[in-house]
Amino acid sequence: MAQELDLTNDFKLVEDKVIEWRREIHQNPELSNREFKTAEKIATHLNSLGIAVQTGVAHTGVVGVLKGNKPGKVVALRADIDALPVTERNDLEFKSTVTSEFLGEKVGVMHACGHDTHTAILMGVAEVLSKNRDKIKGSVKFIFQPAEEGPPPGEEGGALLMVKEGVLKNPDVDAIFGLHINSATPVGVIRYKSGGTMASAQRFVINVKGKQTHGSQPWLGVDPILISAKIIEGLQTIVSREANLTNEAAVISVGKIKSGVRFNIIPESAEMIGTIRTLDYDMQKMINRRMEEMVPAIAKAYGGEASIEIRTNTAITYNDPDLVVQMLPTIKRVAGEVNVQTQNAVTGAEDFSYFQEKVPGFFFFLGGMTAGSNQSFPHHTPDFLIDDSGLLLGVKTLTEMSLDYLNM
Ligand SMILES: [Zn+2]
Ligand SMILES: [Zn+2]
Repeated sequence: MAQELDLTNDFKLVEDKVIEWRREIHQNPELSNREFKTAEKIATHLNSLGIAVQTGVAHTGVVGVLKGNKPGKVVALRADIDALPVTERNDLEFKSTVTSEFLGEKVGVMHACGHDTHTAILMGVAEVLSKNRDKIKGSVKFIFQPAEEGPPPGEEGGALLMVKEGVLKNPDVDAIFGLHINSATPVGVIRYKSGGTMASAQRFVINVKGKQTHGSQPWLGVDPILISAKIIEGLQTIVSREANLTNEAAVISVGKIKSGVRFNIIPESAEMIGTIRTLDYDMQKMINRRMEEMVPAIAKAYGGEASIEIRTNTAITYNDPDLVVQMLPTIKRVAGEVNVQTQNAVTGAEDFSYFQEKVPGFFFFLGGMTAGSNQSFPHHTPDFLIDDSGLLLGVKTLTEMSLDYLNM
């Protein structure tokens, strides 16, 4: 039986460093797949701790492996490191004034999703665990992941590419933990959901083919705009009439329609693109299958043709229910029972899901809103704000979860 580790002092010593790292990273944000300086900073830190480091994983990712002195399981911890093309708007002394180019346009760059806090927290966890490596049974793999917000068009990247490059292998990972700071959750609070936590995001493209004719003589053609309207109605009935919404939520949204040139011409074709959000793989399969059946069938009923293509952008962030049950006592011990709360699913997506497709994982939300305040700004906006007094809880939680998991 391993002796109970008292890390109080180690946590106290690391807190100021974590806040300082976070502020430096915040002031020097880098866009997805361009996190060169951030990666260098992480690698330098891990090297200084005597952790074996691999750089250039999935372009700019950094992976460190800390081996304990006894053999055992392997737990992975993941932090995403990229920033967004957003111009920061606040009076912070460590506000970003960085600009860059994104899709040919000059943009401000800002850590508007809080990945700077994730990076600093994981650097802190690495420091605390490396000081206690002689008491660790097994190994801890630190995954600093680029491009969570998505690689630029035409490039691969993010968790998917890391998995493809074998980040979960050698040593093989048994379980993975990750967190996301939240600007609307008070400092000190942790929120989680078992099962489907964040949605899978799929993109669909529908092409409708009709027959062009004069707007005054619809009987001589086939109207692709009318068919598009019927398809949109049909798709909404898949969610409202066929999906078991008491199980999990689902969303189908058409976000763009393109058709026609002139008021008195019934055009030849129409194109629609949209998004599907699901939190359960069986439901996703059903929805995809029904969309593929319905789209050509509706077009055919009105004398036209239609095809649909569905592409998965992000998998379901699925918290393994057994792992959640296993780890909750640790989280409650660290954060205090009243501060650990369940939450509803989020229909936004997170590419942590690609790790969870391969190994059991637990992804939770950490409070970043000043305690007692009720003002918060949404993620991905210029006013987005995180109170860094909440970061130490992230360090403590990931550290203790790793140790407890490895000792189970
Ligand atoms: Zn984001
Ligand atoms: Zn994020």
